[in-house]
Amino acid sequence: MTPAKTFRRVPVTVDLHGGEIALPVHEIRGARDGPTLAVLSTLHGCEWMSIEMVRRFVGRLDPKALAGRVLAVPVGNPPALNHMTRNTPDESDSPDLNRIFPGHYTWIGDQLAKTITEHVLQPCQYLIDMHLGLAWAVFHTVVWPKDLPTADQVRQAGVMAQAFGCPAIYHRDIVGFPGPRSSVGYAGAKLGVVPIVVEIGGVGFAPELEERWIEEVVEGMMSAMRAIGMLPGDPIRLDRYLHYDRHIRVNPSVGGYLQAEVGPDGLHREVDAGAVAGRVISPYSFEELEVLRAPCRGAWTLVARSYPVRPGYWAYGLADLTRPNAGWGPAREA
Ligand SMILES: [Zn+2]
Repeated sequence: MTPAKTFRRVPVTVDLHGGEIALPVHEIRGARDGPTLAVLSTLHGCEWMSIEMVRRFVGRLDPKALAGRVLAVPVGNPPALNHMTRNTPDESDSPDLNRIFPGHYTWIGDQLAKTITEHVLQPCQYLIDMHLGLAWAVFHTVVWPKDLPTADQVRQAGVMAQAFGCPAIYHRDIVGFPGPRSSVGYAGAKLGVVPIVVEIGGVGFAPELEERWIEEVVEGMMSAMRAIGMLPGDPIRLDRYLHYDRHIRVNPSVGGYLQAEVGPDGLHREVDAGAVAGRVISPYSFEELEVLRAPCRGAWTLVARSYPVRPGYWAYGLADLTRPNAGWGPAREA
């Protein structure tokens, strides 16, 4: 192969305003043969922090050092980014792009899913899908899918996930949820791809924190590529990881002003059942409407800053440490 970086827009459809909807694909071809890694970002239009991560990643990749190739999509759902909403802004019954793979209908979302499937998922053997960068809340975890069809897929996904350098490793089923029609669920179950999901970062925090999360993910992607032989050098291997297989959402059930008592420095911190994470206050009467507490002994993997919330908005998430196989320990093989 001739080492090269190229960029193309793959036509998807034409919208009512006459403009073309296209899928942006950066391709980095290495000097040596090897597998194809796909990197997906911003399938949800409100999760735009990963665009900068992909930009730096593509910029830093040296084709001459690369074995195989990378297909990087900085914006999986351009119409949703245009509105900065999670879902595709139309009247379709396929609003969430990450629930409709491989795209059965002619809605914009389905056509995006079909294009991503044909041009990115079918040609790849490995997949990193990023879901991060919500406003005012930050996840800090990497998903190790456990319900992939073959044991070898599961093993390799674990190698990639633990090479990322993030201490929190979420052992979870992905075909069950987000489902067989998510990008990772479809690619893993139907195409034999080895996928991981990266959830590191959030927006609306101190610039130096956000910068740290961006660099962590860029370096994590490089390290995961070393772990599967696409780049030379040793991958990151931490002395210990926070392994867990159950994540509990601790999000508000009422709207109000969330007063965060646990912020980013509380990530991965162990707490007992009942520990207070935040309070929802009425912005009108100032009365306390709800107290958000850890439902069991666990460690925070999603935390928020203070901000106005509606029912169900992202605030806190707890790794359940009462589960038999949960807790801090060395890297795992399976
Ligand atoms: Zn997402």
